[in-house]
Amino acid sequence: TEQVHRIQAGQVIVDLCSVAKELVENSIDAGATAIEVRFKNQGLDSIEVQDNGSGIAPHNYESVALKHYTSKLSSYDDLSELQTFGFRGEALSSLCALSRVSIVTCTQQEAPRATRLEFEASGKLKGTSVVSGQRGTTVVVEDLFRNLPVRRRELERNIKREWGKVINLLNQYACVQTGVKFTVSQQPTKGKRMVLFSTKGNPSTRENIINVFGVKTMNALVAMDLKLELIPTAGPLSKGKARADGSSTEVRILGHVSRPSHGEGRQTPDRQMFYINGRPCGLPQFAKVFNEVYRSYNAAQSPFIFADIQLDTRLYDVNVSPDKRTILLHDQGQMLDNLRESLIELFETQDV
Ligand code: ADP
Ligand code: MG
Repeated sequence: TEQVHRIQAGQVIVDLCSVAKELVENSIDAGATAIEVRFKNQGLDSIEVQDNGSGIAPHNYESVALKHYTSKLSSYDDLSELQTFGFRGEALSSLCALSRVSIVTCTQQEAPRATRLEFEASGKLKGTSVVSGQRGTTVVVEDLFRNLPVRRRELERNIKREWGKVINLLNQYACVQTGVKFTVSQQPTKGKRMVLFSTKGNPSTRENIINVFGVKTMNALVAMDLKLELIPTAGPLSKGKARADGSSTEVRILGHVSRPSHGEGRQTPDRQMFYINGRPCGLPQFAKVFNEVYRSYNAAQSPFIFADIQLDTRLYDVNVSPDKRTILLHDQGQMLDNLRESLIELFETQDV
């Protein structure tokens, strides 16, 4: 029923960040090389994500916003090898239950003829109309939580914090996605639209960081490419596709971190970005190791961190919670011990 759908939807879309995350990930999944996120009134009025990706094919118009519809998963076995962010088919369906959703979309074949889709709260297609447009998709989400009054009031009351969080999350996608032009803008209820930050479709994360945080920040960083050798213990790698020779498995940590010698002032937590295989995620245990090692050289400050942890998909599970924020890492203790040693080694070879 409607009520049940709404309650379940509220577990997928919990705040402003979930909306931005789901829409941006859909754009990335669609192969976009340009993504524009536009807020009105910090998202309280609307959040709009426009991309130049594949577009939605006409035969999918009826189903895209239905619960559990996804075009990304052909069989359950695919799950461990999945390359896309999405596969549950819950985001659009949940957004329909919690806000007013409209989509303008256009595939290569249809251009310059785009189609505007409107949906009912159930996710059922309400109507279509033809508009002009280029290849890609624009999703507009208006009046988030309009039918969950308590949640809506909560959002309005905490908007300052929520806004900080959502910009932080978008910074993270913009920094990690190479070859994607990211633009984020905001328009107050009364006033002009302002671009908050943008990247230029750069080939490297280095240039992305310069675009987002400035060249001064970048100059204070040192490139990091740590290789952690894990000794297989009981768990996912000891069975199934595990290597028969029992050789260790490599975890790579790629990115940029503050040079301890460089006095750049105290970094705030929004400048500590962690990813697993390019997927932004909070990793407090990893942050703790970075901060501790860094402070043993430079006690007064905390480092800027951009760290993408690249590892075998069997070594972690992102699918433990519906919003995919909780990540379970296999043998985290061993990773953290190795990280500590490698970081010390990295800093030792710097001019500390
Ligand atoms: P999921 O991402 O898990 O498949 P969603 O509810 O996020 O589920 O999206 C449902 C479907 O809508 C996707 O599988 C995809 O086919 C289509 N879709 C959503 N957003 C876009 C987009 N920006 N570009 C192209 N197709 C999209
Ligand atoms: Mg999705």
